[in-house]
Amino acid sequence: MFTIDKYILAENLEQAYELNQNRRNVIIGGMLWLKMGRKKIGTAIDLSALNLNTITEDEQSFKIGCMCTLRDIELNEGIKNYFGTLLNKAIENIVGVQMRNIATIGGSIYSRFGFSDILTVLLSLDTYVELYKGGIIPLEKYADMPLDNDILVNIIIKKDGRKASYSSHRLSATDFPVLTCAVSNKGRQWFVVHGARPMKAKLTKIEMSENPETEEIIATVAKLSDDTPFGTNIRGRMEYRRILAEVLAKRNIAEILNGGSHAN
Ligand SMILES: Cc1cc2nc3c(=O)[nH]c(=O)nc-3n(C[C@H](O)[C@H](O)[C@H](O)COP(=O)(O)OP(=O)(O)OC[C@H]3O[C@@H](n4cnc5c(N)ncnc54)[C@H](O)[C@@H]3O)c2cc1C
Repeated sequence: MFTIDKYILAENLEQAYELNQNRRNVIIGGMLWLKMGRKKIGTAIDLSALNLNTITEDEQSFKIGCMCTLRDIELNEGIKNYFGTLLNKAIENIVGVQMRNIATIGGSIYSRFGFSDILTVLLSLDTYVELYKGGIIPLEKYADMPLDNDILVNIIIKKDGRKASYSSHRLSATDFPVLTCAVSNKGRQWFVVHGARPMKAKLTKIEMSENPETEEIIATVAKLSDDTPFGTNIRGRMEYRRILAEVLAKRNIAEILNGGSHAN
């Protein structure tokens, strides 16, 4: 059980940031992950009065406020129109609707969980995080940074027209994934992400023909899975994950070649 000494509804980001510099204090999102721990929290800093629960779209990008829930993203019409079923496929297996109504995108991406479906799919897109002090940086860079005391304010996904596909393997529905995989493609550039390895999602950028033949796909995917580190945990052995990685990557590439999810 975790405990909270004091609760503050932040009036602005500067106040929230200042409070968050104390190591006993934490920003709270949906608190679903925090409640699993035993942390003795000094001050819980709530961002929910700062209008950070909206998704805005313009010609270049989507901006998703950190307090948006996974369910907000699932239901957003603009996201569905642009990405088709891509983001839904990455979100729909996360426990259930009640939980996705609470889990925030800020808490999900800040935590950079090894098992994260959402980190996997967003790494395959042209995604950035906007930090209160750290500014806008690519998600790829953020994923490798240590957890710090900055505030993740927005997630920005650029509309660069790439096609993408997502899949995961689970031992049973709604369990944590054994492996996640997202692939996207723009011209000869292919972006392959494997997550739940069980380490944090890893993005690999490769060159392959725009319309590769089967042999090229098999060779590329085999090399990729050889070059990617996988590990063993209670959900699966390293060898099993390596086999799954090839299967999921091939399926995603096949889906992209059949249309994938992409801009209208
Ligand atoms: C039982 C269970 C099963 C799950 N299964 C899956 C799964 O299969 N796939 C998957 O991808 N995910 C899964 N998740 C993770 C879930 O989707 C959320 O990512 C997770 O609960 C964190 O979101 P939250 O809003 O609850 O964050 P919180 O618990 O509120 O916060 C998590 C951390 O993020 C920090 N934080 C929150 N918001 C911000 C911010 N804006 N800026 C800086 N720091 C911030 C907090 O201080 C805390 O350290 C699961 C979670 C649970 C509890």
